[in-house]
Amino acid sequence: MNHDDLRHWSKHAADWAHDYHATLRDRPVRAPLTPGAIAAQLPATAPETAEPMQQIFADFEAIVPPGMTHWQHPRFFAYFPANAAPASMLAEQLANAMACQGMLWQTSPAATEIEQVMIEWLRDALGLPKGFTGTLHDSATTTTLSAILTMREQATAFAGNIAGLSGQPQLRFYASAQTHSSVDKAIRVAGVGQENLVKIPTDAGFSMRPGALAGAIAADKAAGLLPAGVILCAGGTSIGAFDRIAECIAVAKAHDLPMHVDAAWAGSAMICPEFRALWAGVEGADSIVFNPHKWLGAQFDCAVQFLRDPTPQVKTLGLRPTYLETAGREEIVNFNEWTVPLGRRFRALKLWFTLRAYGLEGLRNRIRNHVAWANEACAALAKLDQVQIVTQPILSLFTFALKNDAATEALLNRINDDGRIYLTQTRHDGRYVIRVQVGQFDCTRDDVMMIPQVVAELLPR
Ligand SMILES: *Cc1c(COP(=O)(O)O)cnc(C)c1O
Repeated sequence: MNHDDLRHWSKHAADWAHDYHATLRDRPVRAPLTPGAIAAQLPATAPETAEPMQQIFADFEAIVPPGMTHWQHPRFFAYFPANAAPASMLAEQLANAMACQGMLWQTSPAATEIEQVMIEWLRDALGLPKGFTGTLHDSATTTTLSAILTMREQATAFAGNIAGLSGQPQLRFYASAQTHSSVDKAIRVAGVGQENLVKIPTDAGFSMRPGALAGAIAADKAAGLLPAGVILCAGGTSIGAFDRIAECIAVAKAHDLPMHVDAAWAGSAMICPEFRALWAGVEGADSIVFNPHKWLGAQFDCAVQFLRDPTPQVKTLGLRPTYLETAGREEIVNFNEWTVPLGRRFRALKLWFTLRAYGLEGLRNRIRNHVAWANEACAALAKLDQVQIVTQPILSLFTFALKNDAATEALLNRINDDGRIYLTQTRHDGRYVIRVQVGQFDCTRDDVMMIPQVVAELLPR
């Protein structure tokens, strides 16, 4: 296969992609679950000699789509969305064609400079103050890891990186029980130890209690431990909980602690001014993460980190050996110094295409529709016999259950085996509940109203 063949086959792939998307509604959303069924269709070893693309493509069509869970299916209401707007897919094709590695400004100036502009566009679109700058990461998990490593180094006067943590006071971090497991993972990977992530109790609205946060910090200080940072939740994965951001930030500030806000899912909704009250006070944070690859339409992977001041993070993560120096260019930014990996894909291109092809107003309309339709579907479900709404919609996420966990789980299995819609579960307040989130880029009101229809059909008789 050479570049002339690639021209032919990429046109063929574009046609395939169009047909695939056009027929998504006819496919079951979730892949049928038979472990090993796909692997069994592949030979045990790699071919010694070249195979014709005709055959490779035919095998792809036969084996792969039936083994996929269709994330771009308009009736995907599971987890959170991983949207891929058509304009984003086009940009990824172009980025793939150039296949750059944008670790330094000079290794692709356009990749770095468009990334800088996209961060500014998004900062303004979310209503954040001009002072914030930022960078792109692959995922919210590595973004949160970068923020926690930075807070760790600030707390230890940058001794952790050099001398290790063993000679340091015991570090303490604070988060609510509603924060995502990526925070726990980052705390583990950063060498802080899970036991030093203090889970602060929440109030009736499942928001971190600022008084409890203040109490925990004061108690740790009195015990000779070293508070190092606060991680706040703006739209938790389980039920969409928001911490009381302004009050919690005030507590952190009073103790001179840095704060990182995880808005991986809900951040996209903040392009709509009417939702910003949910994270009021966020401009006091030092670091904020949100994933355009969830709700905004820029496909996976694409996580944005806004930073009040990048200096401590660059001091934590930046290394500049001679082979990465750029002679005579002191003013440029080398984004690898802001992130964990050295190598970087050209992720900014899909943001540029997506923001321009739909416009902020087009993206706002989608998100507003999703929120409105989620509320409508929730109201329709609430009218069904046996169904209990457990948590009301926060943006476009709500949960429901039947009378006990076994009945709820059995219903969820029936729904997902049916295949017209796809929902997933969480545990809330000790209860097994079904999550519904609306956010797929191409979904319509009819797609969303299929949720109460399918549930009504599949309720126990
Ligand atoms: C999805 C999600 C994450 C993890 O995102 P990745 O980009 O997959 O690492 C973290 N926090 C919240 C609130 C999320 O919704």
